[in-house]
Amino acid sequence: MSDRQTNADVILIGAGIMSATLGSLLKELVPDWKITVFESLASAGEESSNEWNNAGTGHSSLCELNYTVEKPDGTMDINKAIKVNEEFQVSKQFWSYLVNSNLIRNPRDFIVPVPHMSFVQGEKDVTFLKKRFEALSRNPLFAGMEYSDDPAKLAEWIPLMMKDRDVNKPIAATRSTAGTDVNFGALTRMLFNHLKSKNVELKYKHHVEDLKRTSGGLWEVKVKDLAGGGTERHTAKFVFIGGGGGSLHLLQKSGIPEGKGIGGFPVSGLFMVCQKPEIVSKHHAKVYGQAPVGAPPMSVPHLDTRLIEGKESLLFGPFAGFSPKFLKTGSMMDLITSVKPHNLFTMLAAGVKNASLTTYLIKQVMLSKEQRMQELRQFIPDANSEDWDLLVAGQRVQIIKDTAAGKGTLQFGTEVISAGDGSIAALLGASPGASTAVSVMLEVMERCFPQHMKEWEPKIKEMIPSYGVKLLEHPELIREIQTTTSRTLGISGELHLVQ
Ligand SMILES: Cc1cc2nc3c(=O)[nH]c(=O)nc-3n(C[C@H](O)[C@H](O)[C@H](O)COP(=O)(O)OP(=O)(O)OC[C@H]3O[C@@H](n4cnc5c(N)ncnc54)[C@H](O)[C@@H]3O)c2cc1C
Repeated sequence: MSDRQTNADVILIGAGIMSATLGSLLKELVPDWKITVFESLASAGEESSNEWNNAGTGHSSLCELNYTVEKPDGTMDINKAIKVNEEFQVSKQFWSYLVNSNLIRNPRDFIVPVPHMSFVQGEKDVTFLKKRFEALSRNPLFAGMEYSDDPAKLAEWIPLMMKDRDVNKPIAATRSTAGTDVNFGALTRMLFNHLKSKNVELKYKHHVEDLKRTSGGLWEVKVKDLAGGGTERHTAKFVFIGGGGGSLHLLQKSGIPEGKGIGGFPVSGLFMVCQKPEIVSKHHAKVYGQAPVGAPPMSVPHLDTRLIEGKESLLFGPFAGFSPKFLKTGSMMDLITSVKPHNLFTMLAAGVKNASLTTYLIKQVMLSKEQRMQELRQFIPDANSEDWDLLVAGQRVQIIKDTAAGKGTLQFGTEVISAGDGSIAALLGASPGASTAVSVMLEVMERCFPQHMKEWEPKIKEMIPSYGVKLLEHPELIREIQTTTSRTLGISGELHLVQ
């Protein structure tokens, strides 16, 4: 046992996009605070934030059909779409601030413009898409969105998807050139490099095993040094649990009452990937379809252009699946060990209610490659099995808790859980995920540092001009922000990639 002990102002557990974002915000606001990061793996951004473990969509509701819901009276509820879009505008402002301040260098290394499209087939879905388009395109956040049900126009937008397609049944698509592909892994690494240069202590291969309050009101974190062996103890005034799928276990270990009664349900993801230049060059968009009946919202199928390390590829999926692990590098015991006396009945209720989801996930796991190809052929009718490989993506742990909707309700969003005194916070859930990291970390700060927010507000507004303002109520600000962030991040026009 090592007797190494340190004292910090802030401990960040996990080196994913969430800790990277919180650390970067805090370093700008209070440069003197001592921040220490503990990460089990050998480097930053290796779990869900890694570029190959997520779809890299800059979620802003330009293409994701599940963010708009048709109400019983036939009108379209676009509230969630507006919220997600506004949150992405916040992320883009903070990233622009970092670029303008030379804190991160070339934005093209983590964000590129890729049109976002929704594509549907059949009368019912075409009617839904038209209504969605009419509701969104009137809104300044979604200005510039186009709609077409003309096969010739669609062939211009998505030639690979239209080749050999039966155009006798109704088809339609919407398209927005404001869409982006974001390499969250690269962004995470850039942010941690920046934090390292600002004397943030980054401790890789350091696994947090336990955390408890000290009699002096600090948090003591027990850390296993996976490389050198031995156990260390470190204290801090504030701890952020940014462990991704690992957060639930750590929250439970903290013992805070706010963490009681919450469970987690892991859903794994799998993509098919094509890297053949002659196919990849024929598609340039992120095209989202409708989720199959009974499928959870995170398994909406989409065909995406990705740019990773300067090379374009196509990703199709995600296929959902079931694995009891909470992290891709987690343990088969994760699900079982997350069941505690305080969440047992919540978990049992969720198990009974979601039996059909479990069956769906198990069926997804059992799919053969040829069955997956059949799903892909809904998008690319002449897709050839030899051109596509399987890629295991990250794990998403969905929150289970008792809500007004009933005991053991499965949630598909993200949620900040914090102690009443603001000394510790954890982020649970995974969607809309990395795209909304800046808004979610601002929420952590508002909850945990209310005494500092007034003093910090001018600097926050310098970094994020729309902070504290509902963008929709200020259309002129929307235009200004979209123009300036697009220019700074280099996402104002379509990117034409050279293979
Ligand atoms: C299949 C899939 C597709 C997705 N697509 C998108 C998308 O298109 N757009 C989008 O915005 N989001 C997407 N997401 C969600 C997004 O990837 C996540 O929301 C985001 O990466 C979570 O970041 P994080 O920092 O919370 O977690 P992570 O990136 O998982 O980082 C957590 C870190 O904590 C470490 N850790 C865990 N426990 C411990 C411990 N005890 N001690 C020390 N370290 C620990 C882990 O090793 C890991 O490095 C997707 C996710 C998946 C799985």
